[in-house]
Amino acid sequence: MARYRGPECRQCRREGLKLFLKGERCYTDRCAIERRNYAPGQHGRMRSKFSDYGNQLREKQKVKRLYGILEKQCRRYFRKASRQKGVTGENFLSLLERRLDNVVFRLGFATTRNEARQLVCHRHFLVNGKLVDIPSYLLNPADTIEPKEKSRKINRIVEALESVERRGVPRWLTLDKEHFKGTLSELPNREEITIPIQEQLIVELLSRQI
Ligand code: SF4
Repeated sequence: MARYRGPECRQCRREGLKLFLKGERCYTDRCAIERRNYAPGQHGRMRSKFSDYGNQLREKQKVKRLYGILEKQCRRYFRKASRQKGVTGENFLSLLERRLDNVVFRLGFATTRNEARQLVCHRHFLVNGKLVDIPSYLLNPADTIEPKEKSRKINRIVEALESVERRGVPRWLTLDKEHFKGTLSELPNREEITIPIQEQLIVELLSRQI
């Protein structure tokens, strides 16, 4: 599947926001946002004023970059969210948070969502005791997530878990670090998704296009 293969830090600089795409480096002063907090490119330092459409587009791009999804997937989540009860924007973010690769990252089994996606694709994770290798697999309350017995020795997983306290596990997830086991205790609500996204702008944009 087509995917962005360029420098990750460039994406953060474009959005003017830390998207935490490079693991441990993002928490140090080597982070590109700490050093050069302006947009990449020749005209990056010029102040840019966006139109309403521009603001809406930037919010959508932020979400796509943060969760590593493509346009088609983004629209599919939006359609699903708009069919659900409740506020569409909140449903949209909740669906993205419930993706298996995101939950593996949030539980601390990986330092980035990209790494989590790779670990899932490489068949290292079980959901409710069964192997799942689909990063977009949607989790439900009470689902358990754990690396396979053999995979618990993988350095990437062990090292990521060692620094989980620094990153923090959200309240809607429970982690039993000793037994390498995580549970989705409840559906995430908007207050618990602490990312600076104005989802209403994405709703305004996509509801016109879909
Ligand atoms: Fe973004 Fe900084 Fe991490 Fe690079 S190091 S991906 S700029 S948060």
